[in-house]
Amino acid sequence: MSRVYNFSAGPSMLPEAVLKRAASEMLDYNGSGQSVMEMSHRSKVFEEIINGCESLLREILNIPDNYKVLFLQGGASSQFAMIPMNLMKKHHKADFVITGQWAKKAYSEAQKYGECNVVASSADKTFSYIPKLDSSTFSKDADYFYICMNNTIYGTHYSELPDTGDIPLVADISSCILSEPVDVSKFGLLFAGAQKNMGPAGLTVVIVREDLIQGVDEKVPTMFDYAIHAKNDSMYNTPPCYAIYICKLVLEWIKNDIGGIDKMYALNQKKAKLLYDFLDQSKLFKGTVEPDSRSLMNVPFVTGDEDLDKKFIKESVEAGFVNLKGHRTVGGMRASIYNAMPIEGVEKLIEFMKKFEAENQ
Ligand SMILES: *Cc1c(COP(=O)(O)O)cnc(C)c1O
Repeated sequence: MSRVYNFSAGPSMLPEAVLKRAASEMLDYNGSGQSVMEMSHRSKVFEEIINGCESLLREILNIPDNYKVLFLQGGASSQFAMIPMNLMKKHHKADFVITGQWAKKAYSEAQKYGECNVVASSADKTFSYIPKLDSSTFSKDADYFYICMNNTIYGTHYSELPDTGDIPLVADISSCILSEPVDVSKFGLLFAGAQKNMGPAGLTVVIVREDLIQGVDEKVPTMFDYAIHAKNDSMYNTPPCYAIYICKLVLEWIKNDIGGIDKMYALNQKKAKLLYDFLDQSKLFKGTVEPDSRSLMNVPFVTGDEDLDKKFIKESVEAGFVNLKGHRTVGGMRASIYNAMPIEGVEKLIEFMKKFEAENQ
């Protein structure tokens, strides 16, 4: 068996220990005589899995008691609609910072439900930076303020959160959840699709302050109403059982194998620094993001020559590094180095880049 180093932006690598554990429990989970895929979501054995997953997530991210954790389906993209459906209640208004395609999609979807204001955008420079924000330009009566914390496609990340006062801050953390500590109490709502840092596609996690989802809204379709899912402990209907089980294994890996979120963060900083330091001194490769906006998870880079980029991607695949092709709007390359990418993967990629640089002077 030979496994590749997978630099995909998502779905992405999972820790090998998690895959092995899941394989060993595939036919008989914990003496139940069944796979997790086969068991009733109302069974005691599954109840322990979902409750265990929630309590580990609460522990690792230090989620305060007045926040609900919801395990939903529909991907991060369904949240682009669910958020306005549930939170645009008082003034039917929200503020957005446009830092890339995902923020733009959230903005377009929310426009179907109310007035949406763009307070800042980095579209002028292909989203290669996080714009400076001036809170005097924020709407005073917005129902929420929306950001995408880590921009998967462009490789940017907020180093400082906007100060929105009493207005709930809503953040898409699909590609940075569990990569760094986060002060949940600063947010009204956080959400993430699982397939970058938590587990397989099919699970979407929403962390929402309780007071924002008081009462079921008759006008919101049942399956899109946070209050319904909260009231039913994410069991209104069948949840994505197997994805929740893998997520629990990933959380156990972070807690027990890595040693918690601070250790995870330190490891991610170390991995990203190796790659950025290399890019900063390279005569061939160049990072595309302004240094103070750099993401720890997604690292786009170019040679400046499209043919050379193509050659690099082709040779990288042959060398066992897959999915390094950048997003079509940026071109070049992108290395996504999520939690499960081992440091050796980054070291070996840099070695390969050095070799390529020497051969293509
Ligand atoms: C991947 C991604 C999405 C889309 O996720 P889906 O689960 O495919 O809908 C949204 N936002 C960010 C930041 C992402 O990285």
